[in-house]
Amino acid sequence: VAADCELTSGDFFPFPISLDFGQLRYTTIKGSINSLSLYWRGNNIGMLKVFDVFEIDRLQVSEQLFGTTNMSHVGVRDFVQRRGPLIGGKVCLFTDFVGSISSRYDTPDCVKKNIQKRSWKTVIGFATRNVPHRGHEYLLRNYQNQADGMLIQPTLAQKKPGQYTETAIRTAFKYLIQSTLGSEKYVLSFLPARSLNAGPREALLQAVIRRNYGCSHFIIGRDHSGFGGFYGQYEAQELAAKYANRLGIKIIAAREPFYCGICNRISSDEMCDHLTTKPSNITRLSSSAIRSAQRCNIDVPDHVFDLDLQSALSHVQLFY
Ligand SMILES: [Zn+2]
Repeated sequence: VAADCELTSGDFFPFPISLDFGQLRYTTIKGSINSLSLYWRGNNIGMLKVFDVFEIDRLQVSEQLFGTTNMSHVGVRDFVQRRGPLIGGKVCLFTDFVGSISSRYDTPDCVKKNIQKRSWKTVIGFATRNVPHRGHEYLLRNYQNQADGMLIQPTLAQKKPGQYTETAIRTAFKYLIQSTLGSEKYVLSFLPARSLNAGPREALLQAVIRRNYGCSHFIIGRDHSGFGGFYGQYEAQELAAKYANRLGIKIIAAREPFYCGICNRISSDEMCDHLTTKPSNITRLSSSAIRSAQRCNIDVPDHVFDLDLQSALSHVQLFY
């Protein structure tokens, strides 16, 4: 998977899902691993039947997955510093856990049934790890006519200081659908997954996940799942184009939305050329800049972040 985006079965797969163990813990249980109990938030939720325990060259694999071995990349650092072997095997989840989790996070079957019920033949998947700003709203409106419907599926990542809370993301998207977009063409669902910050490879993984949730299309935007300028602006879209006939889902390559003061609306370089000709009139829509402002209680203007949405979030804890 790391080298060629391919499983031993020959199927396409862009990013290995591995269980890192750490050298210390591995040494204490070495020789006795046939199966492992899996815990989530303190509850035993299933088993891992162990097929394989193996070492990898973490720097080499980092280069393949993240495109760099630079330790200032948070994904690389996390991956390299874990050390120790990886464990491969078959995950078996207990049915009561699957039942309990599906009430908070829809399973693929549940989402696919919903799509079927609406008789949608084509569905565009949209993913983000942020509370939506005007740019997200623009993408959701701009592409809705290209399919029967859209699946908005924000990723609820692990709790990290400075990141939006799960409650904030849930509240914001529910507000957006109920008050702005309408539920006729949009289905909302949430995906629990950690952020890998792996840029292009992660974008492809997100596409494959949305395919498995019943989407026919997936939007990849500018610097999708990127981190700190390590990837080219549209590198994820280029990698998606390379694997276009193996992904099993069509990619919509979205240009970066920005606010143009001359056109007085959210635009993109396909809509106007003011980003290059009149750059001083352009406001870039950056989630990290918006988060910084909100953390310091600095007002974010309505053309960047919907003021009514800000009010809807006023009673919610925004950040971890
Ligand atoms: Zn313009």
